[in-house]
Amino acid sequence: MRAALRAFVRERAGFRCEYCRLHEGDADFLTFHVEHIIAKQHKGSDDPDALCFACSECNWAKGPNISGLIGGKLYPLLNPRKQNWHRHFFWDHTTLVGKTKIGMVTVQVLNINRPSRIMLRENLLFEGRFPPED
Ligand SMILES: [Zn+2]
Repeated sequence: MRAALRAFVRERAGFRCEYCRLHEGDADFLTFHVEHIIAKQHKGSDDPDALCFACSECNWAKGPNISGLIGGKLYPLLNPRKQNWHRHFFWDHTTLVGKTKIGMVTVQVLNINRPSRIMLRENLLFEGRFPPED
């Protein structure tokens, strides 16, 4: 992937993971990735509209997944290019809560409320760097 494309996707995201909203400057120990929203193995493209910026925790948990199960029914994961984050999620203190099935399944599949991730948010909250303003 070209450096210019990476830079574009990173800037468009405001340097935040487009799933968990973690800022790249708030987690030096994590690398951030330009991620295929629809994985290549599902014929996802390298078009900027098919890419998002994601922290390594979200990216690794997501892998090639494009959906997940709630109560035995399949729901798509959030597509940051097509869906508004605020419509699907809200913060309950440092826990991310899905407002919709898309939000709920994204929190579940991407393991967004893993204890270590909540602990990081607790530390950021203490330092006045959480929750994100936008
Ligand atoms: Zn993330």
